[in-house]
Amino acid sequence: MLSDQTFRLFVDGSWVDGAKGSYAVVNPATEQVVAEAPEAGVDQVGDAVAAARAAFPAWSRRSAAERGELLRRLADAFEKRIPDLVPLVQAETGATMRVAKTLQVTQCALRFRRYAQLANEDHDIALPPAVMPNTPLAKGGLIGALAARQPVGVVACITPYNFPLTNMAGKVAPALATGNTVVVKPAPQDPLAVIRFAEAAEESGLPPGVFNVVTGSGAETGQALVEADIDMVSFTGSTPVGQRIGETAGRDMKRLLLELGGKGAAVVFDDADLGSAVAGIGSTWSFHSGQICTAPTRVIAHRSIHDELVAKLAGYAGYLKVGDPLADDTVVGPVITKTQRDRVEALLESGRQDGAEVVVGGARPQTESGYYVAPTLLTGVKNEWRVAQEEFFGPVVVVEVFDDEDEAVALANGSPFGLYDYVWTGDASRGYRVARQLRSGNVGINTVQRNNEAPFGGFKMSGVGRDGGVFGLHAYSELQSIVWPS
Ligand code: NAD
Repeated sequence: MLSDQTFRLFVDGSWVDGAKGSYAVVNPATEQVVAEAPEAGVDQVGDAVAAARAAFPAWSRRSAAERGELLRRLADAFEKRIPDLVPLVQAETGATMRVAKTLQVTQCALRFRRYAQLANEDHDIALPPAVMPNTPLAKGGLIGALAARQPVGVVACITPYNFPLTNMAGKVAPALATGNTVVVKPAPQDPLAVIRFAEAAEESGLPPGVFNVVTGSGAETGQALVEADIDMVSFTGSTPVGQRIGETAGRDMKRLLLELGGKGAAVVFDDADLGSAVAGIGSTWSFHSGQICTAPTRVIAHRSIHDELVAKLAGYAGYLKVGDPLADDTVVGPVITKTQRDRVEALLESGRQDGAEVVVGGARPQTESGYYVAPTLLTGVKNEWRVAQEEFFGPVVVVEVFDDEDEAVALANGSPFGLYDYVWTGDASRGYRVARQLRSGNVGINTVQRNNEAPFGGFKMSGVGRDGGVFGLHAYSELQSIVWPS
């Protein structure tokens, strides 16, 4: 075991053992146990929700500035732990060290700092007074109004395995900043660093019950949380689970933020800088083994540059070192579990059966241990095939061909998903024109870089709602109209 530390649930400011014991968290590269994580009982999920409910009135009545100050202290307490947390989160996620240090850990601190800052700004909207006529309802006059942001209440934050700390921070920081209390349910595969994060929450002086963590090895913990007396579910994960959560939450009108699957189209025009396109598309292989919802996994290439682009992509993929995520020169580490590797391989096989050409990769890398998938490039893909329609969530890129702009847009939009699409072109007006036609929550023109202040979320089956920057504050608040006569 990497860690002989004990990991417990964090409920109402106290550390408690899982009522159903514990389960092993496995390092995806070594297949060794990292540590045991607590297996919460359904009653303990209820305890966490009750604690969050009890803490809500006092927490929501605190001034936003006070909440911001506590978030800043939380970021300080977390940052002190970074040297210990990097090896832990690396081991449980299988991320390369570069990804572990930056996007797995540092980004978490940055998110708390950003929302500590945003909490200090006034997000209510003062409306100009309206001249209202006499009506049978009430006397006319000059009527003032304020659109006030109120917290939603108790928020269940249910997160996926790919970026356990960062994803949690993207939910918890804006939720707490706006006066909500939270129960966090990290993914079963890698909950350990999130449990350690709770130590920082404790040290920062957050009142008991404001921040709680429950964990479990199966769907039961999350399901119990969604069914409990909560006001909102903020969920990031797969579309099928999001659908189930939506059905359950709808019964009690629980508020929803659903960040779901994606199958990012990357439209590459004949005038594109192919070097830039290859570097962007190549991130599907080189960044966290393609386990990222926004990856440009579905290339839609203009026929005239198709062969050149494929050759360049093949060159890029063939160059990437697969293996031990702790080695400095490794670019592609393992995927999270054997189940995930088997899923990727089965989908690849369906592509082969349909007639796709495997230009690079396709075979399981020979390693002593670990759940590896080689960077793989499939060409000759038809949009209706499973490999073009379903998520791999692994280092696999598929290539389709188009002849004109309308066809490119139709192919890109011919997907149940609509999370993040990309356009590569040398013509800025075409880039903008195409972006506006894509049925996708986010579009990158000639870049896979992000702007963290921009709204983030999906069209279609990729989800409901937006977070990111100030939009995160909006997501975790209800607008209340307060109206008065002048
Ligand atoms: P998943 O849907 O299997 O699990 C996500 C979380 O939901 C886990 O914590 C899991 O335990 C929990 N869960 C499972 N069943 C549940 C139920 N019935 N009720 C409540 N909770 C339940 O997803 P995953 O495999 O961890 O992550 C990969 C998926 O996440 C991919 O589809 C990917 O596209 C998506 N994702 C989306 C975004 C985004 O921002 N849109 C970001 C990252 C990942």
